[in-house]
Amino acid sequence: KGKSSGPTTKEELGRATWTFLHTLAAQVFCSYASLVSNFCCSIMGDWALLNRSFLDKDVNNLQLVVYVQFYPDKPTRQQKKDVKELMAILSRMYPCKECADHFKEVLRANPVQVGSHDEFSQWLCHTHNVVNRSLGKVIFPCERVDARWGKLECEQRACDLQGTSMDF
Ligand code: FAD
Repeated sequence: KGKSSGPTTKEELGRATWTFLHTLAAQVFCSYASLVSNFCCSIMGDWALLNRSFLDKDVNNLQLVVYVQFYPDKPTRQQKKDVKELMAILSRMYPCKECADHFKEVLRANPVQVGSHDEFSQWLCHTHNVVNRSLGKVIFPCERVDARWGKLECEQRACDLQGTSMDF
């Protein structure tokens, strides 16, 4: 925290990577103030495992609400393949060798579960806990994984992920 330069530490890299992975597995809820100040969540564009993105008009507040689910309840064959490959690549290329080697073993003992959004987010939580346990860290309650990582609201948290809020 508050660090602005210098090499990235193992801890910073780990937090950033877990944030990326849990956000990928999360279900996101974004609410936009108006059409012109929209798409603070557009970082979640084509590259994301986008299942659903639709607009609801809240007539009273003149608000647009957008729901985006990255890893869907019913992933396609390609999406399943992508997630498995992403994990395999991480276990080979993760830029902390000790962590990558450890992650290879963790993956061997816990093959990636990619059947649905719930399966993947629970698998990821469990796998993160395997790493937590080996480092003597607190075990995270996986029934709370959606509360911790999902249903972000743009005004509060999803925009922070982008670094700035968008003003038009
Ligand atoms: P982190 O473990 O980085 O977690 C970030 C946040 O995620 C937490 O604050 C918490 O809110 C939430 N969280 C915690 N557990 C869970 C969970 N189970 N499910 C959902 N959310 C959760 N470090 C090593 O020293 N040796 C290693 O071998 C090693 N291997 C790693 C392998 C991988 C693939 C990754 C991504 C990281 C690895 N790390 C390793 C780094 C380590 O896991 C931590 O990221 C680092 O120590 C910083 O820990 P932290 O306490 O800030 O929280």
